[in-house]
This record gives sequence, structure tokens and C-alpha cells, in this order.
Amino acid sequence: MASHSPSAPTNVDTLVIGGGIGGLSAARVLVGKKPDAHIVLLEKEPELGQGTSRADHNTGTGHTGAFYPPGSAKATAANEGFKWLRQYHDEKGMEPREVGKIIAASQPGDSALLQKYQKQALANGQKVASILSGDELREKYEPLLSRNITEGLWLPEAYLFDANGVIQAMAGDIRSLGGEIKTKHKFLGVRAIAEGWLVTTNQGEFLAKNVVNCAGTHSDRIARMAAGHLVDEDGKVEIEISRGARDWKIMPVMGSYVELNRVADWRTAVYEPTRNPPFLGVHVMPGVNGKPFMGPDVFFSPLRERFGQETSEPQGLAKRIHEALDNVIGIPRSTADLTRHGAVPNLQFYLNMATKADGRAEVWKHLNLDESFAKDVQRLVNPDKLELHRVDFSPLRSGIRAQAIDLLTGEVLQDLAKEEIINHYNPNSRFISDKMPGSPGFTASIGKGKWLTHSI
Ligand SMILES: Cc1cc2nc3c(=O)[nH]c(=O)nc-3n(C[C@H](O)[C@H](O)[C@H](O)COP(=O)(O)OP(=O)(O)OC[C@H]3O[C@@H](n4cnc5c(N)ncnc54)[C@H](O)[C@@H]3O)c2cc1C
Repeated sequence: MASHSPSAPTNVDTLVIGGGIGGLSAARVLVGKKPDAHIVLLEKEPELGQGTSRADHNTGTGHTGAFYPPGSAKATAANEGFKWLRQYHDEKGMEPREVGKIIAASQPGDSALLQKYQKQALANGQKVASILSGDELREKYEPLLSRNITEGLWLPEAYLFDANGVIQAMAGDIRSLGGEIKTKHKFLGVRAIAEGWLVTTNQGEFLAKNVVNCAGTHSDRIARMAAGHLVDEDGKVEIEISRGARDWKIMPVMGSYVELNRVADWRTAVYEPTRNPPFLGVHVMPGVNGKPFMGPDVFFSPLRERFGQETSEPQGLAKRIHEALDNVIGIPRSTADLTRHGAVPNLQFYLNMATKADGRAEVWKHLNLDESFAKDVQRLVNPDKLELHRVDFSPLRSGIRAQAIDLLTGEVLQDLAKEEIINHYNPNSRFISDKMPGSPGFTASIGKGKWLTHSI
């Protein structure tokens, strides 16, 4: 833990860690629900929304709930967030692109998946979710769709959101409702005391009754600090009051995209079904500049952020190598970690990925992004109307997905999940961590913010 600042800590009601869509949504919910409370959001970067929430780090689609089992926390949050986000664009004068979505059956066996998605979309509140013939889809919605597509699920309500615009608008709301946002403030450590959580940052200490950890790909590390660094009443002996935060871990998984080098009249968000998660079918998307983009692949990431992103505190080479090793093999922190299932959980997960047929294809895809995507999109695009070759694509962007793994079972978490640590010395004081900052975190934002902060 970093050394204490000489000045007295700043007292706050709730400290939110992370200035991505997750932290902003949690803070937005709290300033509305507790107008008299001092709510402060800390972000380590000089600007908000530079992590996975940044426009060029995700696909940018408001997801319609077709992919999530009805009744799950994820479906409920996505359903609420989907409607809220659409209205929020109108309220703030932003323009979402109403593109609609086709989930296209491009391989044998996809029909059954379309039926499952249709049922889920309707149960999750979509007004229209129709399985249409390929001819009807081409005629009405996407003339460039391949003639090999014989059917697809049409979801007219899907839109592309303005990620950067939403981030700025949310920050404006929080400030105007009395909340504070502090950039260049990096959370470094925490300890529980009778008054609440004493949080150390690179710019001094905060004493918070509650902390909400929405640090994206870093959220497991911060949760472990809260679980592991508690002191007894005379402030000396470290004790442990929660093992929970040691039982899950974030694995960073990279998703990359390529862009067509020329303008084309591709109008609709066209997805293949997710046949073998965590691998995704290819998505072909209308680009804002008229150039369609395709992706993402699913590939292990040695870093939790993109190179050069952590501008506020550049890391030395040794720290980067340690971090890369930890992300790839999952270095155990204690002897207890060694004895439990998944001492090297990341490596196990990545090896599972790499040995599956889809995993091997994914490794190849990542090493040859332009060639692989040029081949993959042939399944969805009519070559007579839009000729595509490897040379037609340029690498566009990539984002780091926070894939959470349960270390006790080795399973990837599918539904939303939170870790709630109660302060040993003060039962009304909570430290809540978002365990699942993954997709559809942007769409679900406000619903997830409410769910996460329910007990505050
Ligand atoms: C390839 C890809 C495609 C996706 N497509 C979609 C999509 O189409 N639709 C959709 O809804 N979702 C999509 N998602 C998911 C969505 O982008 C994420 O769920 C969402 O952006 C996560 O937001 P977050 O705020 O939790 O994390 P982030 O945006 O990463 O924010 C975390 C913040 O915490 C800060 N932070 C970290 N450590 C500290 C610290 N110690 N102190 C202070 N601050 C700290 C970081 O700097 C960062 O700003 C996609 C994700 C990926 C990777």
C-alpha cells in the first residue's frame, strides 16, 4: 500500500472507481437516488471513457436482448438499458443510427439458434423479432447480403450508439446533480476502519462510507485489495474477512476489427450466431464514414489495456512483463491460491481456447486479420455486389474484453455478478465490485448501475 498523504482524507458518502460507462452509470444512479450525499467518481486517466467504453474499442451496437436468457440479471439490465440509452440519445440531441440487426444463418445448424434468439428477444421485450427468408432480407433490409443466406432473424429496433457522446453527457449529468468527477486520480489501495473505507490514491486519501468498483479489466485486482488488506482494531495485524474476492479473476481478451478501404452501401448490422462461445460469429457493420467494418476476433491479451493507454502512470518494462505473465498464466498470489482449482486459470482457459477447433482458427485469424476476415465475410456478402479481397481491408481498432472466470469451477461467468464486501467494523459500509464488466456493458449501462448500487 502506498504511503499516507499528510493531509486529512476527503470525506465522501460513496466513491466510484472508474470513468467508463460502468462507473458513470453507477454514479449517475447514485446522484439521482441520494441527492444530499457526496458522490465522487475517480478515473486514473486524464480523460473519461478511454477503456473498453471508448467508441473505437467496441462494436457500438445497442443489443436487443436476443442473446440473453430471459430472467437473467444480464437480460433485465440489457432490456432496461437498451430502452434508456435510445431515449437518452433523443434527450441529449445525439443521433443513434437506426440500422436494425440481422442475425444471419450462414452454416448448417444455425436455424435452431435463430429460433432460440427469436424467443429470447421477444421475451426480453422486443416488439418485433421475425425470422425472414434470405430473399426478403435482401429485398427489404440489406441488398448486399449473400445469396447463400437463406434465412435470418430481423431485429428492427437495434441501433448504433454514440459511445463518446454518451460518456460526456453522463459526466455532465453527474456534475449538474452535485456529483464530483476527478480524473488523474488512480486508486492505489484501501483499508477498512470504523468510519468506512480509507482509500489511497496518487492524489491523497478519501474516507468513504461506500465504494463501488467499476474499474473494468482492473476490477478483480481492486476487489482483492479490499478483501485482503484489512487491519485489526489497533491498526496493525492484517486479517482477512472475505475470501470471495479471491475466487474470481478477470482475463483480458482482445477483440480486433478491420475496415473496408472504400465506401460501400452496407446498411444493416449483420451478425452470425454465436455458435461456440467465447468465440463470436463475424459481424459486418455500417461504418460512420460509409466504410463498413468487420470483426471482432477473440484472442488472448497479455495486457489489460492497450499499449500506451495508461498515460497517467507509464509502466516500466519489468512491471509490464510481470503483468503480461500474470494475465497469461495467472500468477498465484498465495499458497492458498496454489491449492485451489485453477492455480494457473488464465493459462488453462487460453489452452482450452487454443485446442478447440474454433480456437485454432481464431489464433490463425488474429495473425492474419485482413486475410481471415476477407474470407469470413464472404459468407455474408454477395461478391457480385461487393467484391472483397484481402488488400481491401485495413486493421481498424481493437478493444480489451474483461472475461471473468470463477476460480473454483474454472467456468467463465455468463451472467452479471457483483462482489459485496461488508466492512468488518461497520456493517453499513460496503465495498461493491463489478465482477462482469463484459458485453453488453454499454447497452445495459443504466440497468446495471441500478443493480450494482441497489444496497447503497
Ligand atoms: C470488442 C468488444 C466489442 C463490444 N461490443 C459491444 C457492443 O456492441 N455493445 C455493448 O453494449 N457492449 C459491447 N462491448 C462491451 C462494452 O464495451 C463494455 O462492457 C463496457 O464498455 C465496459 O465498461 P466499464 O466502464 O466497465 O469498463 P471501462 O470502459 O474499461 O472503464 C473502466 C475504467 O476504470 C479506470 N480504472 C482502472 N483502474 C483504475 C484505478 N486503479 N483507479 C482509477 N480508475 C481506474 C480505467 O481507466 C477505465 O476508464 C464490447 C466490448 C468489446 C471488448
